[in-house]
Amino acid sequence: MKNKKKVPGSNTRLVHHMYDPHSNHGFINPPIVRGSTVLFPDAETLATDKQAYTYGTHGTPTTDALCRAVNLLEGAARTVLVPSGLATVTVALLGVLRAGDHLLIVDTVYQPTRRFADHMLKHLGIEVEYYMPDAGADIEKLFRPNTRAIFAESPGSNTFEVQDIPAITAAARRIGAIVIMDNTWATPLHFRPLEHGVDISIHAATKYPCGHSDILLGTVSANRKHEKTIESAHLFLGMSVSGDDAYLILRGLRTMGLRLEHQQKTAFALARWLEKRPEIDRVLYPALKSHPGHELWKRDFTGAAGIFSIVLKKGGTRETNAFLNSLELFGLGYSWGGFESLAVHVSLADRTVARANYPGPVLRLQIGLEDFDDLQADLITALEATG
Ligand SMILES: *Cc1c(COP(=O)(O)O)cnc(C)c1O
Repeated sequence: MKNKKKVPGSNTRLVHHMYDPHSNHGFINPPIVRGSTVLFPDAETLATDKQAYTYGTHGTPTTDALCRAVNLLEGAARTVLVPSGLATVTVALLGVLRAGDHLLIVDTVYQPTRRFADHMLKHLGIEVEYYMPDAGADIEKLFRPNTRAIFAESPGSNTFEVQDIPAITAAARRIGAIVIMDNTWATPLHFRPLEHGVDISIHAATKYPCGHSDILLGTVSANRKHEKTIESAHLFLGMSVSGDDAYLILRGLRTMGLRLEHQQKTAFALARWLEKRPEIDRVLYPALKSHPGHELWKRDFTGAAGIFSIVLKKGGTRETNAFLNSLELFGLGYSWGGFESLAVHVSLADRTVARANYPGPVLRLQIGLEDFDDLQADLITALEATG
């Protein structure tokens, strides 16, 4: 760190710097405020809207506490809260794009992001084009006079390709294009997009910040230049979240560092063991030396999430179902970042340019907080069932 002033560690920051108890009578946590109407003391104040809170959709002390915490974690000028991770994508893109604009999206993007772009954005007159996750500085070859924004997600969903974000943001700056990045995998503890030139960092707080599979919520964080863009989009689209949900995400953040550390440790040990199993062709996890994106990941990230995919050497539906149906601890279900391990079969059929040629089924594993030995035993049974 160039700056000599001692910067608190990330776990200290999650505990001590996210909320000032003295703003709430000394209570360590903020109050949970539920509310639509906010009363004004007199006609003059009502006419000028000059008080801290004016209406429920514009924020409450609970949502503000979470926004401030996320600003701190992301190094952002402004954060807005939306009802799901997917809503971060739609709010950021609708805020930035105009009819006639050209949008570049990484081909390994979260599938519902593609669905939104291919249906709603195209209908609104946006030109949508997908780029290879390894484009790096070569992304400029795809630039058009109307290229307005680049939507990155690194590592990519399900196959975890790492992108050269600094090279992409440098190219974008040369033409004044806005870079939006879905940073759900790394969380701001392991990658801080705005420090790498990204303008708007989005996050499905449903995953690690929540950590308990009981809340859907998203955060959109912008640098100084784009804070008005996200603030307006949030307001115009009528987005708001409940105080109860915001409170629980803030509570989840306190232990996010610890959970991530544990999940990363178990995931890494399982991934290293899995890549030597005879049934497995490769393990798609940037923390592994064998992963094509490992060097980039090491350069830019300070840690890994506890989610990766395995590629079987051979097989189809029968082997996939045998594997999934043999699991006892791993639940079969979507999402990740919670305390319990999960497995799903991954479909890559939606990809248009990044078509990888895998010899067998791709299965995604979210590693929870269970003990390593138990998860390993569960996976041995499942792998043996594929034979
Ligand atoms: C899960 C996920 C989302 C969407 O989050 P929801 O809260 O489930 O809508 C967005 N981006 C990525 C990369 C995700 O994994």
